[in-house]
Amino acid sequence: MKSILILTAGFGDGHNAAARNICEALEKISPEVEVTVADLFERSYGRLNGWARKAYLGVVRYAPGLWAGVFKAVDRLPWLTDGGAGLGRLQRVLVDVLHATRPDCVVSTYPTYGQLMQALFRDHCERPFRLVTVVTDARSINSVWHRAPSDRFVVCDEDTAAVLRRAGVEKETVLPLGFPVSPRFAEPPADPPPPPRAGGPFRVLYVINTGKKKAGKAIDRLLDIPGVELTVTVGRHAELKEKLAKRARKHGDRLRLLGWTNQMPELMMRSHLVIGKAGGAAVQEAIAARCPMIVNQVIPGQEEGNARLVEELGIGVVAEGKKEVARRVREALADDGKLWHQWRARLEELSAPDASLRIARLVLEEGDRANQCVRPETLPARRNGNGAGAAAAAAKPLSRRHAPRALLCDFHIHTNYSDGRLTVPEVVDFYGTRGFDCICITDHWTDPRRLIGQLSRLTPFTLSYDQIEEYFEVIGREARRAWRRYGMLVLTGLEFNKDGPTRKSSAHLLGVDLKEPISPRLDLLDTIERIHAQGGLAVASHPHLMKSEWAKETLYLWEHQERFIPVIDAWEIANRNNLFAPVSLKRLPFLANSDFHKPKHVYSWKTLLHCEKDPASIKECICRNERVSITLYRDHHPAGGADPTDSEWAAPSPDWEAEGLIKRLPIAQHSEVTTVAG
Ligand code: ZN
Ligand code: ZN
Repeated sequence: MKSILILTAGFGDGHNAAARNICEALEKISPEVEVTVADLFERSYGRLNGWARKAYLGVVRYAPGLWAGVFKAVDRLPWLTDGGAGLGRLQRVLVDVLHATRPDCVVSTYPTYGQLMQALFRDHCERPFRLVTVVTDARSINSVWHRAPSDRFVVCDEDTAAVLRRAGVEKETVLPLGFPVSPRFAEPPADPPPPPRAGGPFRVLYVINTGKKKAGKAIDRLLDIPGVELTVTVGRHAELKEKLAKRARKHGDRLRLLGWTNQMPELMMRSHLVIGKAGGAAVQEAIAARCPMIVNQVIPGQEEGNARLVEELGIGVVAEGKKEVARRVREALADDGKLWHQWRARLEELSAPDASLRIARLVLEEGDRANQCVRPETLPARRNGNGAGAAAAAAKPLSRRHAPRALLCDFHIHTNYSDGRLTVPEVVDFYGTRGFDCICITDHWTDPRRLIGQLSRLTPFTLSYDQIEEYFEVIGREARRAWRRYGMLVLTGLEFNKDGPTRKSSAHLLGVDLKEPISPRLDLLDTIERIHAQGGLAVASHPHLMKSEWAKETLYLWEHQERFIPVIDAWEIANRNNLFAPVSLKRLPFLANSDFHKPKHVYSWKTLLHCEKDPASIKECICRNERVSITLYRDHHPAGGADPTDSEWAAPSPDWEAEGLIKRLPIAQHSEVTTVAG
């Protein structure tokens, strides 16, 4: 099996986006390839990284001018150029990761890695793998990128290629393939924006990263423009979303307010204009989506190049301040969108929406070349002889599709579509790398009438009505990826929260394996009927007394069991660390689930099913209540030691070393990588 290692770093937003998108493209065109994404800074410089990040955030917020100096100083730091003592720790981690993954090709999306490689393999011909450097800057390029040799340098356009060549990089190693945006940009949308006409509709996408205090006023100004239909994304800022929700009610259909979204490519491709900060990835995504851009924020020293790029390429304009932004939007759309058409024509010429797929193909080709001369002994020695174990762990096949054994399942999982911490793709990778066979994602789904008044503080903790369609779409897409990559089934579900004033009037009900949304306003019996009509299972969640960090108890279903036992398919016999003996005493069909909200919750009760790995067999097995068992899924910390659940990403097996090192990249939304949200 071919192995590809992608190295990234969490500084700025371009590097992670590039790494994530190349990974996605590789999985798409060659699912059998083993792809590892690693951020070596996170492990070896965990503390410094955290400190440096804070300093960075502080500097950007309070003294933008300072940051320009800091960024330029990177060029002069001696330890970045000689791979010397300052980077020693980082180098050791790199050796560990190389031993564990044995890559055919390494893709670097951050300049320093080239320097590290050069220090490890003085003569770069002795490297047992190929090195492809994906330059995430455009035009103004930090020289650290090209001071060390690389087999290939991928850049976003011809002009950037020229810059590298002028700096002395060999001509044929520089390839202008485009910036690696998500491969989803290569799939045209069902409803592209129609040519602008007086009175609209003009679809404007407003990506809020910063300036949150003034966001409300900025929205009002944009909606003063006749015909504007505004979609606003606020990322993880649940409180801001709640604040803006009042405005959403005032503006009705013209304002769509989204929290975290996994649909940024689709949103951009169906918009006339995007308003956002001049992040490296954001600008490149606007180009890929052929969506003209109004830049409303520029971080000095880091993003000026991107902002200039927007104006030089003639694909939009920089407009700081909310008045200026609204004025520019009017200007772009005036005269049947005369200016807009000019921008759009330029974008048609520049756009390379399939760049990540082309880069992925290049990486695979380069990997083939490495195979012709593999000499594993040329890897530098590991620091402490445990190489074989980690390498074996890394070489373990991920797919267990054909294993004749019980299926490890978890049917109660929350993501950041409600109050969970991880995104849907992160949940899939989290469970997939741990060898799960079937999971069901069940975000909170609440009757809006119950959220009025006292309970309105719960709004950020429930799936939003505007995103229910997206929720089904994204889980469907991730389910296909999970099956390809991990042989893991991912089912779509919802947790219907029917909370009353007391525990005896409150019930939580899981709908497992749903095909489409069900109104949250229905009563419990109607909800169960709709779940069954779709072929789903109705499961009573935490139906009995329990010990919980903060959730209220929910006893309604249990108190009315004569009515619900006949219609409910299974009852949670265990929820996270709680066991419900009464469910067992009544001999009811049962499931054991994590009620997963964050990584440490994985160490909890789980269901084991002895059946075929397909949704129909799994549902039948649960309903018949035959060959169902539960297991307490724990990690390997000794009893009496520190609470193992303290360490969020600790793995449950002796592979912990390899897993800790090669933690898969937490998937972040490009445009939400904030610089001032510390
Ligand atoms: Zn619940
Ligand atoms: Zn729950």
